[in-house]
Amino acid sequence: MKGQRIALSIKNKLILMMVAVSAAVLSVSTLLLYYNELDMVEQSAVESSQMQASLIAASVESAVIFRDERATKRVLNLLVTNTSVEYAAVISPDGLIFSEYRKPYRGHYQHDVDTLLMTTAEVNRQFIEVFAQVDDRGQNIATVLIRSNLDKVISQQLYYKEIAIAVMVLSLILAAVLAQCFHKLITRPLGTMVRHVTNISRDENYSDRLLYSSQDELGILAHGFNQMITVVQTREEELTKHNDNLQRIVAERTKQLYYKAHYDALTNLPNRYLLLERLSSAIVSAKHQQKKLAVMFMDLDRFKTINDSLGHDVGDELLQAVAQRLKHVGRNNDTVARLGGDEFVFLLADLESADDAGKFAQNILEQFSHPFSLKNNLLHISTSLGISVYPDDGVDGKVLLKHADLSMYHAKGQGQGCYSFYTNAMNETFTKRLEIEHQLRNAIKNDEFHLCYQPQIDLITNNLTQVEALLRWNNPVLGAVSPSVFIPIAEEIGIIIQVGEWCIDSACKQLQQWKNQNSQQIPVAINLSSSHLLAVNVVDYIRDTAAKYQISPTLLEIEITEDVFLEHSKKTIAALEQLQSLGIKIAIDDFGTGYSSLRYLKTLPVDTLKLDGMFVQDLEHSASSRGIVTSTISLAHSLNMKIVAECVETQAQADFLTTNLCDLVQGYYYYRPLSADAITQILESASDNNSCNNYL
Ligand SMILES: [Mg+2]
Repeated sequence: MKGQRIALSIKNKLILMMVAVSAAVLSVSTLLLYYNELDMVEQSAVESSQMQASLIAASVESAVIFRDERATKRVLNLLVTNTSVEYAAVISPDGLIFSEYRKPYRGHYQHDVDTLLMTTAEVNRQFIEVFAQVDDRGQNIATVLIRSNLDKVISQQLYYKEIAIAVMVLSLILAAVLAQCFHKLITRPLGTMVRHVTNISRDENYSDRLLYSSQDELGILAHGFNQMITVVQTREEELTKHNDNLQRIVAERTKQLYYKAHYDALTNLPNRYLLLERLSSAIVSAKHQQKKLAVMFMDLDRFKTINDSLGHDVGDELLQAVAQRLKHVGRNNDTVARLGGDEFVFLLADLESADDAGKFAQNILEQFSHPFSLKNNLLHISTSLGISVYPDDGVDGKVLLKHADLSMYHAKGQGQGCYSFYTNAMNETFTKRLEIEHQLRNAIKNDEFHLCYQPQIDLITNNLTQVEALLRWNNPVLGAVSPSVFIPIAEEIGIIIQVGEWCIDSACKQLQQWKNQNSQQIPVAINLSSSHLLAVNVVDYIRDTAAKYQISPTLLEIEITEDVFLEHSKKTIAALEQLQSLGIKIAIDDFGTGYSSLRYLKTLPVDTLKLDGMFVQDLEHSASSRGIVTSTISLAHSLNMKIVAECVETQAQADFLTTNLCDLVQGYYYYRPLSADAITQILESASDNNSCNNYL
């Protein structure tokens, strides 16, 4: 096609080049020789004719002198033997032909006298003319002219032409043959190199080298090629090593990533992702074998408190110890996973009945009856378990997990160390709880909280001497929600500190109002959760808030529950001592229902015990309650603490408490929780009457 070049191999190029060069050299040489030979032939013909003319001129001298035409003619006729001579004549100086000889002649002959005298020969393309002078004693008396044809010259010319062509053809053939032989000197090593390169690129074997030891350019090329292959081989080896290393790293990282994606880093137990994978497989297997399986959701009781009081390191250590213990509880085909925090899940496959899951749950609870021995702590901890069963409670892994979680919450509600099977009713409870959670998160922002105040009466003076601030929540959707419902939820969803701070702020603000109204200044008790007490800035917040509203910290009392005794730590004691140093009183709320320890009671900075209403309500009917109440009053007084009795509802209860020297009381017998305005009125009324006897 036009524009496309024919790709010639180096071999063909070399042959073509050698033949072309040979052809060029031979052509020039042959042409030079050819024309040289032609010139010589022509010169020879001229010389031969000139010799004949000279001989004739000598022979006819006498005849010309004597004007003997016949004799002259006889001499000229001798030329008949020379086939080349076509015409000869003896011409007088005046140009007249004295005698002539001719072969049959085509055309007219003319000659110039000057030419006859001046020229010895003339050669053109048709003939050769030579002239010889006939002299008599030095004077020209005639001129002999001989005209010869070029037949011999042309014949020689053809002969030489044929020879030249033959020589050229033979030479070219010889050049081609020689080129065919000698091109191998170049193309053979090149071919070897090409094959070598092809093999290397195909096999990627860089260990072979070109064996070519010549010192010519090809040898240098082969040496350079070998050096290049050595570099490539080194790079290839480095690359292979690097790739191997990279593959090893990738394999390790993949393994690590798989482990990270499927296992919990702290306990090395399967995580949620792997649990759900195994759960899906187990469901398929259970469906095929028509068996049951159970998902057991587990949550450690009071783990958050341990984490907050003893630190996260101890919490993590406990989780690891729990994981180790759980690993040995399950059967080989069971899975125990950690979902996060203190949540563990058992997948119990191949169950004949749901009762087997109950037995297993009981076994786990028994395992938790033994304390966990950590590096520096011996911890007693219980767990709550929720169980859902396939296919009764769901046929999907996530649903089973959710239902087990719900039933775990139900178990927690029954107390610590319990387990519960899932029921449909739990779902409704959970939905309601979710709604409470949702509304609770916006309660502060929407200004849905308010405080009411429970008066506390001094039994000696019958005066209202203090109030307890009680948090109330009115939600547009849910209506009035009991603190016993929303406070635990606030703890669980992590907003208890904001709620506590709101209570502190509101109580201090109210104290400022009473102060500004010149009402009687009475202390306000504020309930503080144990987790709030452990917050880093709780003391600063209370001090700063009191300063903000310009009220004395001595007008504040902080009520804490007995949990604080259980989570007793340096941090707790430090916080209580700092509060006390500000002049704030510390009260133990609901005393007698929790884990109070006399040793802690002695060492902790506490000013007041608030006797739980349970004992007060039984006073009229229970001798043991009366014993507990009187003993607690004595205990408080012996420790220089005040005692407040809660939930006083009858005069008999009031009388008993008065008789037994209880310091303060609160309850419906005296007042229901009141609004701040109602308290203001009471205080103003008391101020006017200077007496509080009309409280009763
Ligand atoms: Mg209280």
